[in-house]
Amino acid sequence: MRKPHILLVEDEVHIARGLVFNLESEGCAVTHVETGEDALTAAEGRGFALVVLDVMLPGIGGFEVCRRLRQRDPRLPILMLTARTEEGDRVAGLSAGADDYLTKPFSLEEFLLRVRGMLRRSEWYRPGALGGYRFGTNEVWLEEHRARTPRGEVQLTELDARFLRELFRNEGRVLSRTDLLATVWHLPPDAETRTLDNFVVRMRKYFEQDPAHPRHLHTVRGRGYRFTREGED
Ligand code: CA
Repeated sequence: MRKPHILLVEDEVHIARGLVFNLESEGCAVTHVETGEDALTAAEGRGFALVVLDVMLPGIGGFEVCRRLRQRDPRLPILMLTARTEEGDRVAGLSAGADDYLTKPFSLEEFLLRVRGMLRRSEWYRPGALGGYRFGTNEVWLEEHRARTPRGEVQLTELDARFLRELFRNEGRVLSRTDLLATVWHLPPDAETRTLDNFVVRMRKYFEQDPAHPRHLHTVRGRGYRFTREGED
């Protein structure tokens, strides 16, 4: 299998060095540049699997780089790193077209978790799969955020899509609450958990013929949830 190639845009060399080392240890190939100008040049005609982009850069700033990369390629996954925590900056990043962001300082674990998630998603997005993902009488188009269900067409939120992607990728396996909260909501293990229960209730209403007796999205008592593509009682 080809290594996923990541473009890292980070002017702080000591941070960059650590990230490069760890990404390479994860089996990625990394191109590291220190300025926005170099990032735009490096990305020219290259199919990167992911761009990790610092906001505070000398010269062209991260937001502007993000906007230009996004203009060229609407599907390129972009993870922004921001030193600032203001809500305004997150919004600016997301509206510049970033798919996700991490606020510095972040733990390495957090970073790698986010990178893995984004790489998996971009793999899932590989062009060519025109039909949706089918289970039961449902058909789901994750990329387009829509689904055909027993209750008609449903518009999916980004969270819905992330949740379903985790289920589909882990078909038949038990997903713990902790894993789901981390991968879908990016929440720590001790986070408030009613979120997940309420969410599952809503998903069952969409996708199960009889939400009270789910045949696809099963509760595994004390462990988490399990998705089966074939209906199971
Ligand atoms: Ca910086």
